[in-house]
Amino acid sequence: MTAEPVIDTQHGPTAPEVPPTVRASLSPSRAADFKTCPLLYRFRSIDRLPERPTVEQVRGTLVHAVLERLFDLPAAARTPESAGDLVAPQWDRLVTEQPELSTLFADGDAAGVEGFLRSAAALLEGYFTVEDPRRLEPAEREALISAVVDDELLIRGYLDRLDVAPDGALRVVDYKTGGAPREAFEARALFQLKFYALVLWRTRGVVPRVLRLLYLKDAEVCDYSPDAEELLRFERTVVALWRAIEQATARQDFRPRPSRLCDWCSHQALCPSFGGTPPPFPVARPADPLTDARSRPAVPGADE
Ligand code: SF4
Repeated sequence: MTAEPVIDTQHGPTAPEVPPTVRASLSPSRAADFKTCPLLYRFRSIDRLPERPTVEQVRGTLVHAVLERLFDLPAAARTPESAGDLVAPQWDRLVTEQPELSTLFADGDAAGVEGFLRSAAALLEGYFTVEDPRRLEPAEREALISAVVDDELLIRGYLDRLDVAPDGALRVVDYKTGGAPREAFEARALFQLKFYALVLWRTRGVVPRVLRLLYLKDAEVCDYSPDAEELLRFERTVVALWRAIEQATARQDFRPRPSRLCDWCSHQALCPSFGGTPPPFPVARPADPLTDARSRPAVPGADE
């Protein structure tokens, strides 16, 4: 198996061209969708069915935005009060950029919006109990990273945060804001972090020392240290997953795989496991296979 590095960060050097051998891309969210339920992958990536964001997802997006901006402030100013002060302006910015978010609340429901903003601030308080951002200088935030594996597959995703120690050690940090049952989502979260670790290893030649999940709601830290052998196995898994997706697409055969995560699925009405019928398979792939834009997942607590 070969891997060709592609450095492609928002804050890094100029992104090189994607090699001409590349014919598909895969993000951790979409790969995890297929692993969780092939039909869910089809609904999201092939049918591209719309999903109305939940309050939990939007709260997650808001908290991520605040934490990203927090590190724009001088270190000494990164206090809980400053984070709280960022909540309302970041919400205004998000609603301006994505007006559909305002439909989460009924017109004139000022109390609803206020409660929502307070709940985001409460999650940020959880953040300050597990980290002191005044002592951190992240190397990258919300950075798009990508690498080519197996000559043909571009794997890419957005890191919440990357910390680089003076000795060059990497720590990948992912903020989790969901309140979903932990056991149902931990594997998916770890899959996502290993995906990032694989990209970093392939682009920088360094296996991240720590993959860190920060659970803001429960104020808990979950650290994991991968090794090169494990990432090699993981790379084979990702390539095998992509081949399985290609086969399923060629056969137009994406089967439902019911699990506890169905409770968070927006597409039960179309799912045979719930008595529904999927729409006809799209005649042609609707999008450039290299276009796999970031989308916040529909499953709270999974990738947000
Ligand atoms: S309801 Fe469950 S089985 Fe059906 S598509 Fe959604 S996740 Fe898959």
